[in-house]
Amino acid sequence: MDQIECVVIGAGVVGLAVARALAARGREVIVLEAAEAIGVGTSSRNSEVIHAGIYYSRGSLKATLCVRGREMLYDYCAERGVPHQRCGKLLVATARNQIPQLESIMARGKENGVLDLMRISGEEAQELEPSLRCVEAVFSPQTGIVDSHQLMLALLGDAERDGAICAFHAPVEAVEAINGRFVVKVGGSSPTTIGAACVINSAGLHANALARKIRGLDARHVPPLYLARGNYFSISGRAPFSRLIYPMPNEAGLGVHLTIDLGGQTRFGPDVEWVDSIGYDVDPRRADSFYAAIRAYWPGLPDEALQPAYAGIRPKLSGPGEPAADFLIQGPAAHGVRGLVNLFGIESPGLTASLAIAQRVCEVSGRA
Ligand SMILES: Cc1cc2nc3c(=O)[nH]c(=O)nc-3n(C[C@H](O)[C@H](O)[C@H](O)COP(=O)(O)OP(=O)(O)OC[C@H]3O[C@@H](n4cnc5c(N)ncnc54)[C@H](O)[C@@H]3O)c2cc1C
Repeated sequence: MDQIECVVIGAGVVGLAVARALAARGREVIVLEAAEAIGVGTSSRNSEVIHAGIYYSRGSLKATLCVRGREMLYDYCAERGVPHQRCGKLLVATARNQIPQLESIMARGKENGVLDLMRISGEEAQELEPSLRCVEAVFSPQTGIVDSHQLMLALLGDAERDGAICAFHAPVEAVEAINGRFVVKVGGSSPTTIGAACVINSAGLHANALARKIRGLDARHVPPLYLARGNYFSISGRAPFSRLIYPMPNEAGLGVHLTIDLGGQTRFGPDVEWVDSIGYDVDPRRADSFYAAIRAYWPGLPDEALQPAYAGIRPKLSGPGEPAADFLIQGPAAHGVRGLVNLFGIESPGLTASLAIAQRVCEVSGRA
């Protein structure tokens, strides 16, 4: 049986960031990825927004790792030539009765250390974005966009440069914790067994199910998982906006927002659709609710403009109607299994926070 120090399960943006961080600290690392390539899960099915850190509860991991991770990410993108743009975002109140919510979001952002938010009038917002309709807005200059695939390629490149290996078609089927070490069973076309001192479970939507298969981990430490699909629609060409436009968030998500990718395409979403299984088909009939949501801030959206684009699924630790749950980075202090770190509920802002999550995983696993 091959022996290695650290096994990272999953080559999404978080697994790759963890592999890079561990390899940079001189750790021997293999990334085991079930699919044929990096980033085929949630990491390539999101809005690609670098969040400022406004919405999350004070002191939560989402708040602290987003704010820290955002600056780490901007620095990393600049250093490694990963395409990105600090384009800014307008969070808009489209009716007077939304102004208290706008105010409380701004206050929360300040509590989280996002100190440069600017409250502006509807007229000032329209000077910035003439096609926008709103009564008041908050401008967030630190919000931006990133090419998530180029980011993952850069993370993989760094990890490999520092000696990490990434194996594809390598689904982890079981893990057994025995005497302070792990036996990791890998399936696929070339099944194998690997011995390891440290296992990082960053399997995204599959992390909870995988954790239930870890012999030696008490199943009480594995939280239930709820799946919330987010559908996107796009228009051909670019909408007349140069900043991201976000409506008021609702109980489950940030609202159907307008984002721009680095190729200049405009997309709208995600909405929130609770589902029982993983599937990514976008039902064209959902367009009706998108027209209504988008026209609240962009009345000029032409009829018949929206096309179904893609969907992503949030791995949520709270169900419909429950308060938003935090990221759960669960190490030995929580579950008692030395060398094991489970990453549960890494939904948004996981892309923004990925480098800070990786730093945290190194600390929690005792490999800082
Ligand atoms: C709709 C939507 C919009 C979002 N928008 C944003 C945003 O704008 N900004 C932001 O910061 N965040 C955003 N996020 C969150 C962000 O996309 C995620 O937090 C991040 O991509 C999670 O990365 P990951 O590596 O944990 O998971 P994933 O990318 O899902 O990677 C997990 C990997 O594990 C592999 N895997 C699973 N099981 C096994 C196994 N048994 N063995 C081996 N490999 C396995 C999978 O194949 C996959 O490649 C959004 C999320 C969603 C759903």
